[in-house]
Amino acid sequence: AQQLGGNQYEFYNPSLTAHAIADLNLETSLRYALERSEFLVYYQPQVELKTGKIAGAEALVRWQHPEKGLVSPGKFIPLAEEIGLIVPIGQWVLETACSQIQQWQARGLFEGRLAINLSIRQFNQPDLVPKLAEILETTGLEPSTLEIEVTESLLVQNIDNTIAKLKAIKALGMTIALDDFGTGYSSLSYLQQFPFDILKIDRCFVRNLPEDRKNAAIATAILQMAHGLNLKVVAEGVETYQELLFLYGQECDTLQGYLFSPPIATSEFETLLRTGK
Ligand code: C2E
Ligand code: CA
Ligand code: CA
Ligand code: CA
Repeated sequence: AQQLGGNQYEFYNPSLTAHAIADLNLETSLRYALERSEFLVYYQPQVELKTGKIAGAEALVRWQHPEKGLVSPGKFIPLAEEIGLIVPIGQWVLETACSQIQQWQARGLFEGRLAINLSIRQFNQPDLVPKLAEILETTGLEPSTLEIEVTESLLVQNIDNTIAKLKAIKALGMTIALDDFGTGYSSLSYLQQFPFDILKIDRCFVRNLPEDRKNAAIATAILQMAHGLNLKVVAEGVETYQELLFLYGQECDTLQGYLFSPPIATSEFETLLRTGK
């Protein structure tokens, strides 16, 4: 509110004010969400195109808000990033998903990889690599089970530090995927400098393949280039059989998308593992 003189107050832009209050409420409840155990990990299968088998799962966090219900990460991850809460939330996702995957492995239900999203803020924590080593120790997971997904936002900060850290993660035995490829600022020359194992083609380039000629050209070029650089490719957001067919023809390695399954809760994913191999 702005004082105009006398007893007059003018509330400028009431909708902005409402937004600010909504954000504040969200921030307050987000701060309590961890201790109140309101987060869940959902799993989305990644399917190996050659065999049709489940090659892995991406862990995707959900927030079970007491009043709002299930809140999608698009709604709270940016805020969590901004206020630093992404670090403890990300650590919780890592621990929860790793121990779940370990259980499924021990029961012979799962042989694939677990992909975990790391925000830039988490990546930049000085104790990231020890934390990753620790999770391997406490769960007994094979290091090669873990795939770390990072985004192109990493590539615009100090290159030497970033490369050194990525190499340290790989030295633990984990693999590294570049998420949302093609949507960020990275130049192609980065691809040979950074030690990535996997490129994930962003779903905006998968949409409507092959009728969308531009997407078809981009997807084809990404696949050729990635394979030329010895990288595996995961296509995200595969929703239709036409998209699958096209990606099959282009020898894409792995597919992820609603065509197979959306991200699903632990018990549902376990059912999928039992029945849908
Ligand atoms: P992302 O890493 O690119 O994850 C893939 C997103 O695409 C997921 O959204 C997934 O539900 C959605 N998706 C998968 N298949 C399809 C499809 O066929 N069609 C469409 N339209 N969408 C599909 P979600 O779960 O809402 O997550 C959004 C973003 O939030 C993620 O994008 C990731 O950037 C972030 N996020 C989620 N969980 C975590 C986490 O544990 N840590 C961090 N740092 N970020 C996370
Ligand atoms: Ca991801
Ligand atoms: Ca992605
Ligand atoms: Ca994304």
